[in-house]
Amino acid sequence: MSKRKLIVWGVFSLTCLFIYSCATNPITGEDEFIIYGEDQDIAIGRQYAPEMEKQLGGKIPDAQLQDYVNSVGQKVAGVSHRPDFEYHFTALDHNSVNAFALPGGYIFITRGMLEKLKTESQLASILAHETAHVVARDTMEAMSREMLVGTALSVALSREGSSTVSTVADVTRQIISLKYSREDEKVADIAGMDYMVAAGYNPYGMIETFEMLESENESSPLEFLSTHPSPENRTGYIAERIELNYYITDNMKTGRDEYQKYVLERLK
Ligand SMILES: [Zn+2]
Repeated sequence: MSKRKLIVWGVFSLTCLFIYSCATNPITGEDEFIIYGEDQDIAIGRQYAPEMEKQLGGKIPDAQLQDYVNSVGQKVAGVSHRPDFEYHFTALDHNSVNAFALPGGYIFITRGMLEKLKTESQLASILAHETAHVVARDTMEAMSREMLVGTALSVALSREGSSTVSTVADVTRQIISLKYSREDEKVADIAGMDYMVAAGYNPYGMIETFEMLESENESSPLEFLSTHPSPENRTGYIAERIELNYYITDNMKTGRDEYQKYVLERLK
């Protein structure tokens, strides 16, 4: 190859690498350095969702409750920046107070969290916040920071064999304890609130939820706030945004009776 051809080829390869390496966050509009494509998000989500369920008590064995949680989740995901992902919302039979998002649209909420909530709009606030993490690909980013993506993907893309069972379990434990950044949290709060409102939910449900979590956290630290660390003045900036944008909340859904009937009564 001539020197000139070699230079052209080099520039071409570097350009390809650069394009492949930058992904635009649809919420912030900023370019982010994630070297993996969305197909990999879906491959990881699909591979690790069953193990996630297993490690956190399995699904709550109540089809009606699962349908209800999923329907609320689909409402907020359907008006998100990425309605085209296939979303799955699952309630897990675990006492921790937590919610998670695996890459590619697999979202989980625990029994412990469901028992602390009182209305459908509060449930929507948690599911919308998690949806925003999926849209922004925050789990993938956190996994990249912890050098976890390579291992996770090699398992997800290889044929299943007994040798990978312990790796899947180990990677899942690490995913469960991943921490988002406070900046990711703030972006997820604001985008999540926009999704709630677009889906017709009263956004004050998000303030009620965070006030409840902060106050419960004072008596015993909650898993949710360790993986989703509170940005400064969290309820303050949420309230400010509501007052600026959505001050007529009269006709927005709170759903206290529905939540009582489809979740709290059924968990007893
Ligand atoms: Zn979060």
